[in-house]
Amino acid sequence: KLYNQIQDLRGNIRVYCRVRPFLPGKVSSSSCVAGIEDRTITLMTSSKQGKDARKSFTFNRVFGPLATQAEIFVDMQPLVRSVLDGYNVCIFAYGQTGSGKTFTMSGPKILTEEGLGVNYRALNDLFDIQAQRRDTFCYEISVQMMEIYNEQVRDLLHSGPNKKLEIRNSSQNGIAVPDANRVPVASTSDVVDLMNLDHKNRAVCSTAMNDRSSRSHSCVTVHVQGRDLTSGTVLRGCMHLVDLAGSERVDKSEVVGDRLKEAQHINKSLAALGDVIASLAQKNAHVPYRNSKLTQLLQDSLGGQAKTLMFVHIAPEPDAVGESISTLKFAERVA
Ligand code: ADP
Ligand code: MG
Repeated sequence: KLYNQIQDLRGNIRVYCRVRPFLPGKVSSSSCVAGIEDRTITLMTSSKQGKDARKSFTFNRVFGPLATQAEIFVDMQPLVRSVLDGYNVCIFAYGQTGSGKTFTMSGPKILTEEGLGVNYRALNDLFDIQAQRRDTFCYEISVQMMEIYNEQVRDLLHSGPNKKLEIRNSSQNGIAVPDANRVPVASTSDVVDLMNLDHKNRAVCSTAMNDRSSRSHSCVTVHVQGRDLTSGTVLRGCMHLVDLAGSERVDKSEVVGDRLKEAQHINKSLAALGDVIASLAQKNAHVPYRNSKLTQLLQDSLGGQAKTLMFVHIAPEPDAVGESISTLKFAERVA
């Protein structure tokens, strides 16, 4: 409840920035991040003439390289919990490949308790509240996992053939992908099982096309239905946890064929997402949801009463500064 009051003052779109630490063995003496002060991050760019220039950007929060997964989650916990009150929520991880999107959403490759990302923590938190409110509410929680690759939606929890799926709009269910597996979850171990199936399905894809995961958007959708045991009122909310495709610009002179097609689809859909969020932030009358599969899929959870968190990621290496600046410009536009 408190969270909603805060949101009313700030609008329903928040933008956070996270800076990845240097990777082990690759620690460098210089970073493209010149400083982080409260809600402002300053990048250092060097021009061809060797002159240094500084550029600052301000967001709702900026997390430095030392921020832990637990600290990050604490900040978004109220947003996650609002799903139980019937709100729709989208949490996006944006940034160039290697900037830490998957780390934030899922965790490191070898998962540890402290390393658990937003996806696990969010579901665990919902289970905790479900248990606390057992005497007053009956919650049903279920999960879908999908990817959007080359403007096609596919199920990451499939067991049979991996068919292309349709996004449907019905008066009863709103926007939904009814043919993607939807699995009830009640405990952390259920979630771990699902993530494992998801990783297995993705591994199959990635041998066929190396590291497809950074070139597709992956979306964990958590559906929550809560019934008030005294009044009988039913509330429905859903939360999309989206690990976006890498935002790096590809040099069109260097890629051809499938790789070029992928790059064009990624550019188009990230631009469409930026356009939708920017037009919501500016309270435009027309919101261009139709321009990509991603924004179509999330239409019910972007705008209106829905809450959006855009989490942009920055790599600290000096040679990443060009991409970091374009990431922060994207973020600034939607803030
Ligand atoms: P992306 O999904 O954006 O391509 P990853 O999440 O795979 O990037 O991160 C790239 C590498 O950096 C991985 O090895 C990951 O474990 C590591 N990494 C990313 N963010 C952090 C962090 N905050 N702390 C420690 N290691 C990180
Ligand atoms: Mg990734």
